[in-house]
Amino acid sequence: MSLKNLFSSKKPVISFEIFPPNKASSINTIYKTIDNLAVLNPDYISVTYGAGGSLVDNKTIEIASIIKNQYNIEPLAHLTCVTSTKKDINYVLEKLQENNVENILALRGDLPEDDSFEFPNPLHFTYASDLINHIKNNKDFCIAAACYPEAHIDCKDLNTDLKNLKNKVDIGVDFLITQLFFDNKFYYDFEKRARALDIKTPIEVGIMPVVNKKQIERIVKLCGASLPEKFIKIMNKYENNPEALKDAGIAYAVEQIVDLLSSGVSGIHIYTMNKPDIAKRIVDSIYSIVKAIERSN
Ligand code: FAD
Repeated sequence: MSLKNLFSSKKPVISFEIFPPNKASSINTIYKTIDNLAVLNPDYISVTYGAGGSLVDNKTIEIASIIKNQYNIEPLAHLTCVTSTKKDINYVLEKLQENNVENILALRGDLPEDDSFEFPNPLHFTYASDLINHIKNNKDFCIAAACYPEAHIDCKDLNTDLKNLKNKVDIGVDFLITQLFFDNKFYYDFEKRARALDIKTPIEVGIMPVVNKKQIERIVKLCGASLPEKFIKIMNKYENNPEALKDAGIAYAVEQIVDLLSSGVSGIHIYTMNKPDIAKRIVDSIYSIVKAIERSN
């Protein structure tokens, strides 16, 4: 099923992101995660794509296929392109089609820090828009893309980033998923400016429940999201008490989600970090709210 159809329904879309197990772990470890997420009835599950990895070891295709063909849940396969040739990308597209995976989150990927990496590389794709163009011209997939309420880290000017986003969307994006953020006002401002540029695509909001201070500091360094004062206070207060930090991180994410749903967002994409117990606590907390929105629409 093409995921774009979900956005025409009355219900807000609720979806999860998972990542493949690391190289040392067997693919089988992912079954427990999917088992526990599947019972929460997500609209879809997305699977991240390791940048620069070998195509042969690439577990994204295999996990997306498991989600689709063994769990009957729609998968969204992430696909990055900045370190890939057309041949590599065509291989992945073929494999996804063979496995009935119909939805791709088309991404540029982060630029490798390796000094020998050449950007732009004439053999590779330069931007996500090049990948989207390539997919559109060759295959029939539902295409999602990333967007950045606080602007992409390489482009700290939101106006320029929004113009690049508009270009990407116009090539043929079916829906957008945001980068994580911890202050909803960034999202509301971004959405207003995106709509003013005539970006009409549904936008699903990406929310990360934070349960580990070091992990979030690492992620924020990579993506440039700002940390509000009240968030920092929680992290500092409970950093040495994992259970208290987990409770506080989940409560913070739920508060963000309730506000976003009450403001009419199309969907919530939960960055689960492969922790279904946390996804469950969030989904349980918003159950009646999702139902109320469904009924009132
Ligand atoms: P683009 O849309 O290409 O944008 C990248 C930068 O280039 C931006 O600064 C943009 O303003 C600029 N730009 C775009 N077009 C032009 C142009 N024509 N001229 C000049 N500048 C331009 N990474 C992974 O490795 N694996 C994953 O699975 C993964 N999943 C993600 C999921 C989500 C929801 C999000 C938000 C991010 C994810 N990422 C993932 C991270 C992503 O790969 C990085 O943020 C990457 O640096 C940018 O990817 P993009 O597709 O947004 O790039």
